[in-house]
Amino acid sequence: MNSSVMNTYNRYPVSFREGNGAWLTSLDNKKFLDFSSGIAVNILGHNHPEINKTFEMQANKIWHVSNLYTIPEQELLAKKLCELSFAEKVFFCNSGAEAVEGAIKIARKFQSFKGSVERNEIITFKNSFHGRTLATLAAASNSLHTEGFNPIPDGFVNIPLDENILKKTISDKTAGILIEPVQGEGGINPVSNEFLVFIRKLCDENKILMILDQVQCGMGRTGKLFSHEWSGIEPDIVTLAKGLGAGFPIGAVLASEEASKGMQQGSHGSTFGGNPVGCSIALKVIELIEKEEILNNVTRLSGILICELEKLVEKHHNKISGVRGKGLIIGVECIEKNSVITDLAFQNGLLLVNAANNVIRFLPPLNISENEVMEAIKKFDETLSNLDI
Ligand SMILES: *Cc1c(COP(=O)(O)O)cnc(C)c1O
Repeated sequence: MNSSVMNTYNRYPVSFREGNGAWLTSLDNKKFLDFSSGIAVNILGHNHPEINKTFEMQANKIWHVSNLYTIPEQELLAKKLCELSFAEKVFFCNSGAEAVEGAIKIARKFQSFKGSVERNEIITFKNSFHGRTLATLAAASNSLHTEGFNPIPDGFVNIPLDENILKKTISDKTAGILIEPVQGEGGINPVSNEFLVFIRKLCDENKILMILDQVQCGMGRTGKLFSHEWSGIEPDIVTLAKGLGAGFPIGAVLASEEASKGMQQGSHGSTFGGNPVGCSIALKVIELIEKEEILNNVTRLSGILICELEKLVEKHHNKISGVRGKGLIIGVECIEKNSVITDLAFQNGLLLVNAANNVIRFLPPLNISENEVMEAIKKFDETLSNLDI
């Protein structure tokens, strides 16, 4: 197609006319079961009537005022996020990368505010993904993404997920440790609870900050509102975006009072961050997660989806080799090329997402039904069978 849009994505030859729950209808009226959810964004499916109503009501009141004024919707959302977590302060932005940038700035400022200006390095992990801005690219240190964009900012040490290496890497230059509790783009790698507990301990001992990037695995995706809840620890900083607005762009950095004490008037900002529309919607999303008992649904259907996928691994053992994940962020390891399988699944009306290391991601909306899960399994089974033809 001759497009004026910059060529940064390999796009499927399809456009969607409308969405309804877990289903999308293309311009040529084909139905697709959406197990991509806009890459973990549409956590309550498409066209949720209550979210639409909230959007409309807010849009008819006020869209944007700058952060030069107090924004009541922002105050309410920040209060709610704090009530539901370890956090005592929230900074609002518009995307995941921006949230991670904010987290990095907060960690460095925390150290410099205490007088440890030289403590400015952030430890990160192999196979991670933190966004596409220069600092977040530097954080993930993935050469596929940094190629051609030199100079990449320094101040990051990227290491394997290994307790001994981590312990040895911490130095008097370390400001904090940044990790995804479940790596998303990297191929759905859940970090063990023990590893998170270990990081917490190291951070306490060394007076450095524990930063959890939950842009993809937060907002109920793992069956808890925040994925670290599984491990019992409390981090110092958490980043959110993707699912927070269930389709409306909004990001947030959650921090403890202590971690954010260096952040003062003028330390950071965002013109659009925390606008009334995004904040009203995110508040409604959180309310719906509570009201519709979404987290129970995630855990119940996670069990079913993983069990059914494991059966398919047995049946198609020459094409797929394993299943891993937590809640409704599930990865299938492939033997055949993942993109060949997802292209065929697409043709069969099932939307899935590729991840690194030849993994296919299943990211259905969190309010998906059991019937829809079984429908996806049927389509995936057919897809794998059709690979032979
Ligand atoms: C998607 C993602 C980001 C980047 O989010 P954008 O909104 O695309 O900037 C950062 N961290 C993680 C873990 C992600 O999955």
